[in-house]
Amino acid sequence: MRISKIGCLLVFELLCVASTGVINAADTPATVVLRGARVVTVDPNRPEVTAVAIGGTRIVAVGSDESMAVWIGPKTRIIECRGRTVVPGFIEGHAHFTSLGHSKLQLDLSTASSWDEIIRMVAAAAKSTPGGSWIVGRGWHQGKWREPPLSNVEGYPDTLELSRAVPDHPVLLTHGTGHMVLANERAMHLAGISAESPSPPGGEILKAGDGRPIGVFRETAARPLYRALEHFQKGRTPEQITTDQRAAIKEAVAECLKYGVTTLHDAGTSLSEVDLFKELAEREELPVRLWVMLNDVNDVLATNLDRYRMIGAYDNHLTVRGIKRMIDGALGTHGAWMLEPYDDLPTSRGLNTTSLQQLKQSAELAIRHDYQLCVHAIGDRANREVLTVMEQTFQAHPEKTDLRWRIEHAQHLNPVDIPRFKKLGVIASMQGNHATSDGPFVVQRLGEWRSRTGAYAWRSLLDSGATVINGTDAPVETLNPLDSFYASVTRKLADGIEFFPEQRMTRTEALTSYTRNAAYAGFEEQFKGTITVGKLADLVVLSHDILTVPDSELKRAQVDYTIIDGRILFVRE
Ligand SMILES: [Zn+2]
Repeated sequence: MRISKIGCLLVFELLCVASTGVINAADTPATVVLRGARVVTVDPNRPEVTAVAIGGTRIVAVGSDESMAVWIGPKTRIIECRGRTVVPGFIEGHAHFTSLGHSKLQLDLSTASSWDEIIRMVAAAAKSTPGGSWIVGRGWHQGKWREPPLSNVEGYPDTLELSRAVPDHPVLLTHGTGHMVLANERAMHLAGISAESPSPPGGEILKAGDGRPIGVFRETAARPLYRALEHFQKGRTPEQITTDQRAAIKEAVAECLKYGVTTLHDAGTSLSEVDLFKELAEREELPVRLWVMLNDVNDVLATNLDRYRMIGAYDNHLTVRGIKRMIDGALGTHGAWMLEPYDDLPTSRGLNTTSLQQLKQSAELAIRHDYQLCVHAIGDRANREVLTVMEQTFQAHPEKTDLRWRIEHAQHLNPVDIPRFKKLGVIASMQGNHATSDGPFVVQRLGEWRSRTGAYAWRSLLDSGATVINGTDAPVETLNPLDSFYASVTRKLADGIEFFPEQRMTRTEALTSYTRNAAYAGFEEQFKGTITVGKLADLVVLSHDILTVPDSELKRAQVDYTIIDGRILFVRE
């Protein structure tokens, strides 16, 4: 062995590699070497180096450019980084993989600046869609409109005009948050909704003064519409269904690679979707790693959890060990379950969408079958109730430790509940860019005190010792981790105003929330989340040094290379 010449640091590394059983010495040349970089490893033992060597799917060496010489053979691909920054592959902590793909194939209403514009967009789409077929869109947000629609209820549009413009196609338009839909008359008719339809538990049908539904549906009230759409979609041949799903997944993969997302935590997946992921992974058509939270009713989960539990299957491309639940709705649609009424809707404290009884059953299932419970909670009441359900479940099972259960969003917290995350070991799975996209209406909804003391309070959570992870909830927001990173460290809204900047993360904390902490949240910190010898070679090369450039330049940072399993899967043109 030539290691004596190379120095004790490398000896240490080689020992590490040997102990993980990867590659024994530099006798086997690296497949890829990145050098001339500022490598931010997120590994506290060795935070910064200039070069990384990859052997197959693993990192085999980190160090100086000079130390790479022994790793370079005739077939080694060398990437000259020319001072660019290399970070661990981003781990998206909470997104919706297939929905993200489908959203790329649907009518995108996220840039519409008025209700009239949306009507025009749908009418244009109708021209190229066969009569009777559904027109599906998503991403609208009344908060982005220049003015409220002429005819509205609580600021949401009466869809009468849409029904006149598009009479022959059922239309279903999902809100940017996913917690509300707009439908035209044709769609409401197919879903069996009339003036007599009552609002269901956990949902609301908005009605005009005369009792006519205006075509706006909150939370569970949207279910009949989705069922009608599903009924139509079931009319497709099985081949068509699979083709559509595959097309969506292809879009989602492309989106991940473009933005440097090497692992995605899929927040609510059906069993049949997992079957499809398995099929794709089997054929090596799933380059991005998925960490899955199953979403199905308790009875179905009870009989399937053991069969579907999967850790690092297909060379660490598919893990299923989470259960997803939703206890409330979103702030944007007044669906977040609050302790006190909304400032701008004093008759409402929001909605509880899953009963505590059902949630307790889910918690029992999770703890008995070794799954992590991941509960969507936005409002302060929702967060308090979920923490209590988790606490009671932990107390009932003292033999189970290190569970890493998660609250997804943890968006509005009463200050009393903030220390409970650390105390219970519950992870706060937050989304940096929710703070800045909601920012313009948070104070209007919640008033100054609730906004200041507990809205997107990641600084307070970190200071209390809690683990915070990051993400985008794509397709609710764009998947770009650098957007969420920017929001996490600046809390700057589009107009430049800072939204309670005292809750900012440092740049290092934000990077950690997207890498090492997210790996921990999935029980994957042993082989992901830092650039460390022996770990998976998932890396991203960035155009800008996101740890040091001024805020204004941070916005321009882009992903230049995405590397997964040591393979270069994306190069920016
Ligand atoms: Zn979500």
